[in-house]
Amino acid sequence: MEQKIFISKPATHHLDQNVLQKRIAIAKIGHDIWIDQQEQSLWPQDLNAKQINALEQSKDIDKDLFSPFTYVDNINRQDTLNIKEYKITHKNKLKKISILMKELADLLEITDKKHPYVLRAEHVARGEFLQADAYWVPELDPNLIDIFGAYESYFDQRFGIKREFESLVMIENKEWKIKSEQVKKKYKQFVQNTLSKHGPVNSEVLRPIHVGDVLYCGGRLGGGRTVSAKIIPNWLGPRKVFLMMNTSQAVLEYSVLPISTLYGVTCTLSDYHDFVVGHELSHGLPWRFEEKLFGEYKSALEEFKADLFSIYFASTQDEDFLQGVCSAWLAKGTRAISCLDTKDFGYHQQARTIMINMMTESQVLQVENDEVVIKYQKIQDFITSWVPEIIRIIESKSMLQAKDFYNTYMQVPRIQNDISQQKLEKTRLFVTPELYFEE
Ligand SMILES: [Zn+2]
Repeated sequence: MEQKIFISKPATHHLDQNVLQKRIAIAKIGHDIWIDQQEQSLWPQDLNAKQINALEQSKDIDKDLFSPFTYVDNINRQDTLNIKEYKITHKNKLKKISILMKELADLLEITDKKHPYVLRAEHVARGEFLQADAYWVPELDPNLIDIFGAYESYFDQRFGIKREFESLVMIENKEWKIKSEQVKKKYKQFVQNTLSKHGPVNSEVLRPIHVGDVLYCGGRLGGGRTVSAKIIPNWLGPRKVFLMMNTSQAVLEYSVLPISTLYGVTCTLSDYHDFVVGHELSHGLPWRFEEKLFGEYKSALEEFKADLFSIYFASTQDEDFLQGVCSAWLAKGTRAISCLDTKDFGYHQQARTIMINMMTESQVLQVENDEVVIKYQKIQDFITSWVPEIIRIIESKSMLQAKDFYNTYMQVPRIQNDISQQKLEKTRLFVTPELYFEE
């Protein structure tokens, strides 16, 4: 499978020469070790019944091993599961990331050997996650952004184990950081002024946002390659949102726009950014589809909620902002319009399928001249009727209600009936499996 090296597109135009030189130097380091060989790790849903049974029955397995810092694999593809610590299975990556962190520190002229970031790099090398995070909790030099270790993924549901190892090094993107802060400020007002009418919500729910360009990626799922944003737990502190602007641009240009423009839907990087920030912040709201209540419906519905509230938020802003966010949402969702095969169909796309069907029903989405258009004047009514309904389902804590809702709308998009076969086939050609991985 062809791998696109997105690092070739660092957002450099706004940087002065000095910073640019540093960034190019860093990018070169990142480029050399850009994509590690794919992990041969096993995802819980890949386990066969016998293996699951063995795992659940096993008395030998120390439950502590299912900590965030362990890794389950069955490299031999037999019925035995090997549980190892990340610091063993990912030794080389930890070493690489530590070296890169130190190089970053050098480039930023940090000479103090006891500087927290240098100490952090040393703990990373040894796979000492908690000790390393102790140097992350107080905000360090904002130029330095890194992620390493396990992060919560969708694939940890059965055993509650953290299933993915991720290591990323980013450098702060100042231009976009300012934009993200502006959106966050607006969102904070939205929380205070508008959301409070649905119940108590504290603006403290807003998470810190880091905005950077990815220089190194050693993860498996593609964080930093096909991912725009991530919410990462810090083992000792609050969860943080990471926006990856160079890869967002790559996702937009290589994966989102090729399909969406065929439907007449385009958006700019700025629109995409505003949508992603709204989406990630909405995950932090107190109305959540919790796994223990909503089980298998939780992930798709939680993603749906994040999309819905990001549009709700945008609907309280000026028209340009609303149109930008809706265009970005639809640009991402156009993949759901073409795709019939729900196998491998990610939770975000399920969420978008649900919303596309709801919006079609409410005539917010219509087809004109074989192109999909959003009727902005109908958005307000759509929000007014659906937001309280979704909050009601969450507060009902009823799996049955969630299931009903999911089944009603998680269907082949009805809007397909209004689109020519020719157009559908043309767009399907672009929908390839590697495009399913996203934020
Ligand atoms: Zn999300």
